[in-house]
Amino acid sequence: MMEKIKKNSFIFGVIGIYLVLFVINTEKAMLSINNTGYYLKEMLIIMPVVFLLTALIETWIPKNVIMNALGENSGLKGSFISLALGSISAGPIYAAFPVCKTLLKKGASVSNIVVILSSWAVIKIPMLANEAKFLSPKFMMTRWIFTTIAIIAMGYIIGKIVKKEDIPYEAETLEKGEIAINNQICIGCGICAKEAPECFKIKNKKAILIIDNIKGKDGDKAKVAMEKCPVNAIEIGEEIDKQVIKGNVKLNQPNEAKN
Ligand code: SF4
Repeated sequence: MMEKIKKNSFIFGVIGIYLVLFVINTEKAMLSINNTGYYLKEMLIIMPVVFLLTALIETWIPKNVIMNALGENSGLKGSFISLALGSISAGPIYAAFPVCKTLLKKGASVSNIVVILSSWAVIKIPMLANEAKFLSPKFMMTRWIFTTIAIIAMGYIIGKIVKKEDIPYEAETLEKGEIAINNQICIGCGICAKEAPECFKIKNKKAILIIDNIKGKDGDKAKVAMEKCPVNAIEIGEEIDKQVIKGNVKLNQPNEAKN
């Protein structure tokens, strides 16, 4: 029980605040519950669509496409694609988080995620249209130009401060031949880059992937790198189902998977 409370401390904290509010000001507590109900209803309408979108990204867009378009080496092209993605989006900002998490997992850089989130929040096209109507096209254009410059600069700075390894490593299922590095345990020793330079390189004292899927000779080298990694930070999807859980590798043998 205590563990459950610890795990969901935020939710229990909010429930606690509601209870205290009920005791000291019932009217305000009822108002808060009404507001919460309103947002929960809104989320119930929006989130299924968002989850469908993330599932489609996960299933249909190959990792290398996302890495090329929005990855570490995508440069200004990546920033412009991110700006466009954020600007054409619809729905509240909280809908952007699951989408961005999927993109991040598939290889988008932290900078581009910041650009998508920021443009989603402040330069969405419907918002700009309303702004032009109520505050004049000149106001809208001027704000858009300065906001866009600020968003790209902010993406660049945050990308320098926050690294992917700062973001919690998440359970994922690797497909056959797919490679993943658990950057939270990688010690940057460079063995993988030495054994399979076609697959790994070291950046900011951590291993990063050059390719996301291995074939033939590269595959053999990558497997050697995986075996030699001193902290078991490299995972490669095999024919058997392989589930990676927060740095621990759990192998479901075929007969186990059937059960
Ligand atoms: S061998 Fe392992 S620990 Fe060393 S850099 Fe590569 S992934 Fe990191």
